[in-house]
Amino acid sequence: MIELSDVTKEYPDGTVAVDGISFEVPHGETASLVGPSGCGKTTTMTMINRLTSVSEGDIYVDGDSILEVDPIELRRNVGYVIQEIGLFDHMTVEDNIGIVPDLIGWDEERIDERVSELLELIRLPPEVRNNYPGELSGGQRQRVGVARALAANPEVILMDEPFGALDPITREELQDEFLEIQKGLDVTIVFVTHDIDEAIKMGDRVAVLRNGELVQYDTPKELLRNP
Ligand code: ADP
Ligand code: ADP
Repeated sequence: MIELSDVTKEYPDGTVAVDGISFEVPHGETASLVGPSGCGKTTTMTMINRLTSVSEGDIYVDGDSILEVDPIELRRNVGYVIQEIGLFDHMTVEDNIGIVPDLIGWDEERIDERVSELLELIRLPPEVRNNYPGELSGGQRQRVGVARALAANPEVILMDEPFGALDPITREELQDEFLEIQKGLDVTIVFVTHDIDEAIKMGDRVAVLRNGELVQYDTPKELLRNP
């Protein structure tokens, strides 16, 4: 479960990017975070994984305040998928996927097995493990990004416009594929998009942000009833 309690972010230049938002994502569910560019989506995500500090309020992951969790443990437990630039170009697919397991001290054999398992999950042929990201298509790279986020069995995954840079057909393919994959996982997900249709498709609940404020948090069904 993820809980944001009255969370505010004020950047050093005085910009209030997130203004007192509260919402809960129940264990195993997906919340879509939707709104126009600049409304505070990325800031919210980066506060959850502590790439950005929280100015006021608190965030809990599985009941523990993120401020009290060891940052390396937080990084293991909270996978992160972003648009395009997420992978390291000078590292093979296998090494990209293995970053967090390696960081937390898994041995080579265990990482090897996990990479094979994940490549199967994301429907990539085993031989791509030795390829570099530049040798893959955009859709394949985003699949690897998803695999990397899942590598160390996190309880939470943050996805920031994960399919945003893809052409519409590949995008739809990955959305459908991810919805399938998700059924077999026991993870809580926050999914950022500026596209309301994608938010509704991917989320069990949809959080609508405007200028840093949460204006609505509902199931897709309720949202369509009271837009
Ligand atoms: P979104 O992801 O919805 O596009 P962001 O969270 O990136 O929104 O940005 C929210 C607001 O905070 C915007 O006004 C943006 O310009 C501002 N902002 C983002 N990062 C910083 C920063 N590092 N310093 C100052 N302002 C920032
Ligand atoms: P997005 O809209 O995709 O979330 P942005 O283009 O708003 O991303 O931001 C890209 C990067 O620039 C982010 O790391 C964000 O923190 C930073 N940034 C955005 N707005 C500002 C700002 N006003 N001052 C400083 N950094 C900013």
